[in-house]
Amino acid sequence: MSDGLGARCESPLFERLALIGLGLIGSSLARAVRRKGLARTIVAGDAAPEVRARAQALGLADEIAEDLATAVAGADFVILCVPVGAMAAAAALIGPHLAPGAIVSDVGSVKDSVVAALAPHMPDRVHLVPAHPVAGTEYSGPDAGFATLFLHRWCIVTPPEGADETAVARVEEFWRAVGSNVERMSPAHHDLVLAITSHVPHLIAYNIVGTAADLEEVTQSEVIKFSAGGFRDFTRIAASDPTMWRDVFLNNKDAVLEMLGRFNEDLAALQRMIRWGDGQGLFDLFTRTRAIRRGIIEQGQETAAPDFGRRTGETDQ
Ligand code: NAP
Repeated sequence: MSDGLGARCESPLFERLALIGLGLIGSSLARAVRRKGLARTIVAGDAAPEVRARAQALGLADEIAEDLATAVAGADFVILCVPVGAMAAAAALIGPHLAPGAIVSDVGSVKDSVVAALAPHMPDRVHLVPAHPVAGTEYSGPDAGFATLFLHRWCIVTPPEGADETAVARVEEFWRAVGSNVERMSPAHHDLVLAITSHVPHLIAYNIVGTAADLEEVTQSEVIKFSAGGFRDFTRIAASDPTMWRDVFLNNKDAVLEMLGRFNEDLAALQRMIRWGDGQGLFDLFTRTRAIRRGIIEQGQETAAPDFGRRTGETDQ
């Protein structure tokens, strides 16, 4: 059965692709690139020896480098797939070993601070073109990846001012080839958009699951037993990788605080509506929000099946 990724490319887009960080995103890219034939050679590097061993066992790359300097030597395309907080350290290690003309990109969930972390380590004649695939799951590590992760998802490409247009176009072509829709934005605008569409929702999920865990009047077993009332959908998001999300909040501080301020004001307005019995106000808001979900389904970003497509008698996995 077709996986939806389409035919292999007739000729590779890149000669030697170095993927740094072989977790969920890096290993998914390795699988998609291999499946589509987008690079003649895939080289992988990761700080963790156990991740390198697992990547080797899974056959994720043609070469697994012992260190990051070796991984990027001679590569014409390098993608950093490490947590946002690890970008600067990884860039410092690879910077002196990058080949002239190489394109360096990343997949970090925050863009302004990643550009600031990477740019000082880029030698002249190396093109920095950051990107963020808006695709993921709550799982981490090399076993969690799959080739179709990026299929029909958006990838936001955020070239810094003055970036080389040919390099930007090649990065965009790469993301289209792994099945993504591509949009270009400034790094700062990306951070504002993602603050409300991704970062604040994750914070709300972490908070509500934390609140439920600390309740004294309601038992843990009741929380788990009756979770289908809505709570369990938050628990999926709140199971996301702690390192990755800590780094997101520390590195997108201004935009997240701005959106949280707005959120708190709107929450206070809802509180008032409930206190003063403003049923019409509640009804009007819930009608507007329902339309947003319809829009997401119509654009193919979510299933229209009831209960998020879960089927009775099966687990959510
Ligand atoms: P992950 O599964 O935890 O993988 C990250 C990998 O990078 C791990 O193997 C980690 O090793 C390794 N690493 C950490 N620091 C390193 C360093 N200094 N040098 C080399 N390797 C290093 O994380 P992920 O979910 O793939 O996320 C990777 C990036 O993608 C993050 O920037 C994140 O913001 C972005 N992103 C994630 C998602 C998502 O849903 N998960 C979606 C879009 C974008 P250790 O495990 O030993 O630390």
